[in-house]
Amino acid sequence: MTAVQTAPALFAFDNSYARLPERFYARLDPATPPEPRLLKLNSALAEELGLDPEALAGPGGVAALSGAQPPAGATPLAAVYAGHQFGGWSPQLGDGRALLLGEVLDAHGRRRDIQLKGSGRTPYSRGGDGLAPLGPVLREYLISEAMAAFGVPTTRSLAAVATGAPVYREAAFPGAVLTRVAASHIRVGTFQYFYAREDFEALKLLADHAIARHDPAAAQADTPYLAFLDGVIDRQVRLIARWMSLGFIHGVMNTDNMTISGETIDYGPCAFMDAYHPMRVYSSIDHYGRYAFGAQPQIGQWNLAQLAQSLLPLINDSEAAALPAAQEVINSYPDRYRAAFTQEMRVKLGLIEERPDDLALIEDLLGRMAQGEADFTLTFRRLCDEIAPAGEGRRDGVRALFSDPTLYDSWAAAWRGRLAEEACDPEKRRAAMRAANPMFIPRNHLVEAAITAAMGEDFGPFETLLAVLARPFDDQPEHDDHSAPPTLDQEVRATFCGT
Ligand code: AMP
Ligand code: MG
Repeated sequence: MTAVQTAPALFAFDNSYARLPERFYARLDPATPPEPRLLKLNSALAEELGLDPEALAGPGGVAALSGAQPPAGATPLAAVYAGHQFGGWSPQLGDGRALLLGEVLDAHGRRRDIQLKGSGRTPYSRGGDGLAPLGPVLREYLISEAMAAFGVPTTRSLAAVATGAPVYREAAFPGAVLTRVAASHIRVGTFQYFYAREDFEALKLLADHAIARHDPAAAQADTPYLAFLDGVIDRQVRLIARWMSLGFIHGVMNTDNMTISGETIDYGPCAFMDAYHPMRVYSSIDHYGRYAFGAQPQIGQWNLAQLAQSLLPLINDSEAAALPAAQEVINSYPDRYRAAFTQEMRVKLGLIEERPDDLALIEDLLGRMAQGEADFTLTFRRLCDEIAPAGEGRRDGVRALFSDPTLYDSWAAAWRGRLAEEACDPEKRRAAMRAANPMFIPRNHLVEAAITAAMGEDFGPFETLLAVLARPFDDQPEHDDHSAPPTLDQEVRATFCGT
């Protein structure tokens, strides 16, 4: 008998979520796209995941990444969850336009979900078509990969594939599928779903699954579910502090869009701010500014309080008895957030020692930036050059960003005084600041321009922007235009979900 030569499997799946009971999800195959065509493959990520980029770019790979032919070992499923959307309770949401193909162990032994987004209707689609237009797919690709380059925990983008089918929104747009990679897709809303149904058996299975994946040490704690809650808070506090240090506005911080892993997820109408203002909102559906830039830390706590509530039956058989302990953990949030944010900002300002008035110095600068309509990213980037030894670098850069430069001057005097109290080699300090203050962010007008060009089959601007954002902390003089704030007529004032 001769052995039949078969191509090695594209993915070495080990699907732990699919081994949970059937009431956690609906199993179904993705829709078949008429003319799948690979638009972009993230080869570096593929390798990190232990996948073969060449095979993924081949016919079998494109069939897998488009949904045309689920790869060997996949167990495609739409996960069910619930959530508070803009504060209103939805008892059942779920993957309405996404399917989890399965999980792989990456090159570092970490479990990673492989999910198709835009792969057709599921039992949780409600009124939606389960599809994704090309624009939002490219947007998520660009922004999630930029976040990864900043070092912010985030879901990743492995591939974008055109389906060849139109997607109808305000008009007909080309359809696409994004392959999203995540530490897991478990959300605050996944816990809320089982808690609200009083399915405490499933709730415990979910919590134990999440603990095994994200907080293995919690399993050994005296109170494992409190330790788990504490772990989620820790990750979210650090995540939101990172967002706030970069001028990132998520835009839809519903509880179903908040992960247990601490990764940023569900890039919809998100945006990086140009000119700083704490109440900045871009999302066209966020009419009351619930998810405005400056509201994000408090919303984080509100969402985590929903998680705490959902965990009560696991913390103690009597919810009333569990409440004070859970409340205490939630009450620790503001101090923990403040500490995380202050530390992020200290690094951005080149401060090494911790002093009690650091936060006041930071908030003073932010207040002046808001008043002076200073560009968030460039203010911090140009501060790095103020550190250069006398005679080197530009020293007029920051103040020119303020509509009234004297707003900056008096703050800068205080800042310099503070720096002078800490002995540090200026070059070392400057290098540390440059590593925390990006030169390049996915500015809205550049993202929009890249998408517009791609819709006309020109992927040049998309590729250039992606390449620039892969090294956001490096000066790239040949791409100076990508660091500039938008001119008045370039400015994008609203972003859309594009769902
Ligand atoms: P989001 O806030 O964008 O994460 O989406 C909220 C919910 O709506 C999720 O359950 C999504 O799966 C679902 N959804 C969004 N867009 C669509 C669509 N085009 N088709 C089906 N479901 C969708
Ligand atoms: Mg969502």
